[in-house]
Amino acid sequence: MTIALPVRTPKVGVVSLGCPKATVDSERILTQLRSEGYELTSSYEGADTVIVNTCGFIDSAVQESLDAIGEALRENGKVIVTGCLGARDEEVLKHYPQVLSVSGPQAYETVLNAVHDVVAPPEHNPFVDLVPPQGIKLTPRHYAYLKISEGCNHTCSFCIIPSMRGKLVSRPVEEVLDEAKRLVEAGVQELLVISQDTSAYGVDVKHKLAFWNGQPVKTSMTGLVKALGDMGAWVRLHYVYPYPNVEEVIPLMVEGKVLPYLDMPLQHADPRVLKAMRRPGNIDRQLERIQQWREQVPDLTLRSTFIVGFPGETEEEFQRLLDFLAAAQLDRVGCFQYSPVEGAAANEIAEQVPDEVKQDRYDRFMQTQQAISAQKMQAKIGRVYEVLVDEVDEEGAIARSQADAPDIDGMVFIPDGHELSPGDRLKVRIFAADEYDLWGEQVDLDAK
Ligand code: SF4
Repeated sequence: MTIALPVRTPKVGVVSLGCPKATVDSERILTQLRSEGYELTSSYEGADTVIVNTCGFIDSAVQESLDAIGEALRENGKVIVTGCLGARDEEVLKHYPQVLSVSGPQAYETVLNAVHDVVAPPEHNPFVDLVPPQGIKLTPRHYAYLKISEGCNHTCSFCIIPSMRGKLVSRPVEEVLDEAKRLVEAGVQELLVISQDTSAYGVDVKHKLAFWNGQPVKTSMTGLVKALGDMGAWVRLHYVYPYPNVEEVIPLMVEGKVLPYLDMPLQHADPRVLKAMRRPGNIDRQLERIQQWREQVPDLTLRSTFIVGFPGETEEEFQRLLDFLAAAQLDRVGCFQYSPVEGAAANEIAEQVPDEVKQDRYDRFMQTQQAISAQKMQAKIGRVYEVLVDEVDEEGAIARSQADAPDIDGMVFIPDGHELSPGDRLKVRIFAADEYDLWGEQVDLDAK
């Protein structure tokens, strides 16, 4: 008699740090590992090896990544490092020479080979090795990041991403649309379009014309959005560089093909600082454009990020940034204190602003914006918005409106939403607000 011994499935743990672009890299690696038959685990215990996907954007992210590698080594011992910090392998190896492999972002093959070296993939079993057609997602079932390109052609002086991720390479538009269709068919209600530079999509392939579903589609931000807009899910644009072609998506917002939401990092508002940052410097023109967009799309939500304490920034230049905030009345704003990332050209431009001055400017910036946000949120009381439910707990449902991207913006709490489910889309009337979040009650779908 032959006794079939149960075969142990190899397990791989993953720690995914950093921005949504890194999340998508992790998802690709996980999808491939799962399709090869590996089991995925979120704990160190019992994992044959642990992949740490790192971030290297600013010093605090580097520290968080180094801490995560240290913890994985302590708890498991067999650690594979990848991602943005991995592009600086000497930095990782200086701290942790015992890691099994170090690779930069998108080095899928290197990571998979390193896993294969630790533990070979199990023999293929078609009955258990099924991967959902949309791949493995780290986000909840009802929303997903859609990465359209990699790299960036700009040379912003504070940023080392182009040196880590290289020049812009756009994914073929038909491949992006196929992925989006699979996601929507799997229940995704919101597609979050990401890249380093979304408005440059297709520049590297000269906006090549492709065919999808028998229709011509241009490899460009607008070509893509037009096709995505017909799929029935919310489409949200992130990391839109302030190029003139941003104008072209405004009519698509009016048509309802893309959410009236733009995540457009402006970084500063003083022309000299912008020039030193190597960013577009005509901020007055930017202000005019924002006002024109709002005339066409009154409910437009504008999110932006800024850096305070850039080397050489004077009090007067900082004041110009505060004046811009007051004039532009942006809806959502993120602020970073300048952090001298190793290798960034800006470190050498001028003297560093002292830490206490950076902190003071940061506090004043946030106070100015908080007052603007609070006023904008109060103005929403009494209005009806469509929302998407993220979670339901004993206090009701937690949702987001079209003005709120996951993780970075506010929420809409629905105290009478116990019977709702994640992924439901419904209308609510807002009855309360604070600086960032709203509270609403359910109303009929045709309520205005
Ligand atoms: S556009 Fe963004 S990714 Fe590109 S260099 Fe500037 S900050 Fe970095």
